[in-house]
Amino acid sequence: MRVVVIGAGLGGLTLAHGLRREGIDVAVYERDASAGRPQGISLHVDERGAEALRACLPLSHVAMVEATTGGPRERTLELSEVDGELAVTGTRVSGARPGRQVHRPLLKAVLLTDLDDVVRFGAEFTRFEHRADGTVRVWFADGRTDTADVLVGADGIGSAVRREYLPGVRVADSGRRMLMGATPLRAVLGTGLPGLVGDDPAAAQVRGTTMVVGVLRFTESPVSARSRWLPALRHSAVDRLEDYVMWALPVTGEQPDPHRAELPEALRLLVTEAWPDVTVTLRIGRIPPPPPWPAGPVTLIGDAIHLAPGFGGNLAMRDAHRLSEALASVHRGRAGLLEAIGGYEDTMRRTSFVPVPVAVSR
Ligand SMILES: Cc1cc2nc3c(=O)[nH]c(=O)nc-3n(C[C@H](O)[C@H](O)[C@H](O)COP(=O)(O)OP(=O)(O)OC[C@H]3O[C@@H](n4cnc5c(N)ncnc54)[C@H](O)[C@@H]3O)c2cc1C
Repeated sequence: MRVVVIGAGLGGLTLAHGLRREGIDVAVYERDASAGRPQGISLHVDERGAEALRACLPLSHVAMVEATTGGPRERTLELSEVDGELAVTGTRVSGARPGRQVHRPLLKAVLLTDLDDVVRFGAEFTRFEHRADGTVRVWFADGRTDTADVLVGADGIGSAVRREYLPGVRVADSGRRMLMGATPLRAVLGTGLPGLVGDDPAAAQVRGTTMVVGVLRFTESPVSARSRWLPALRHSAVDRLEDYVMWALPVTGEQPDPHRAELPEALRLLVTEAWPDVTVTLRIGRIPPPPPWPAGPVTLIGDAIHLAPGFGGNLAMRDAHRLSEALASVHRGRAGLLEAIGGYEDTMRRTSFVPVPVAVSR
């Protein structure tokens, strides 16, 4: 069986590892010319994503990821101002699932390690065609083509595979905007904020706004973890990494002026001292759950088919795990192709659509 995956994001790369582990021939085509654009600096990985990584990746890759996460995040803290000082005033039951924060570019670099012969960069998918023998022919912008038994759209929120395969499925923009950034921890060490929140995410309700913050303190230095677990990892992926705070702030308008926001000093410093290259304004949207469609040799994983607030990466990796298991059962002769893909899609439709809006794009 040959599988062509469009998109070298979290879902596509996890799937590639899962399929390769089963001895299935897989090629991943990525539009970007190299390791891909930055898409948020850190990621809260809960048990859904962690389980998928453990199931699909080689042990050395899993060890590298686990060695460099932040500390355990059990709950979401609520922060308010008490007598002019930020204080923890409660915890949120509806916050993120327990998990750990990972540095996203590092996770991506780990996922790319040992996939040199699988991932082809600078290849923008444009269209596909069903062939009489049941296979799928795929075209790329530079004129390249490929043929596969299964085509997987792992090409994110603007999925070109979804647009062609399920044209009725659309992303709706809620009109909401979110400013997201990251700031070196050293910039706020004197403010008491790092000790106040520890490793847990926190939602600060202050002066009429809600700001979400989370500290990533690497449990092991990424440089030493690399030499212990995954020397093949690109050295630039671990070079110059330092602990930081990531934060998100709702904004109005396309070009917010966060410096004017009347935030308490620690939170204002997060905004003013942020790394400029990772600060982005996100549009917030959702994909309404589509009606079921008949299974075929084309399928979708991750943001290409469903969006989720703050946990879409976990769902993309979980899809990758589930789909790799479904295709492995075909490869081993235990299931038919359409039966396996249909089973994967039924489960995905039941478990991955959420009724709330999420980030659409920068
Ligand atoms: C700022 C921010 C913070 C986030 N925080 C979290 C978090 O804490 N936890 C969490 O679980 N999720 C989080 N998410 C969501 C998470 O990033 C996404 O849900 C996840 O990246 C989806 O993975 P994916 O593989 O489906 O798509 P992506 O990671 O978007 O990958 C899609 C890939 O397809 C490529 N591509 C697109 N079109 C084509 C084409 N035509 N041809 C070839 N390649 C193509 C793209 O270049 C990209 O590399 C966050 C998102 C953002 C923006």
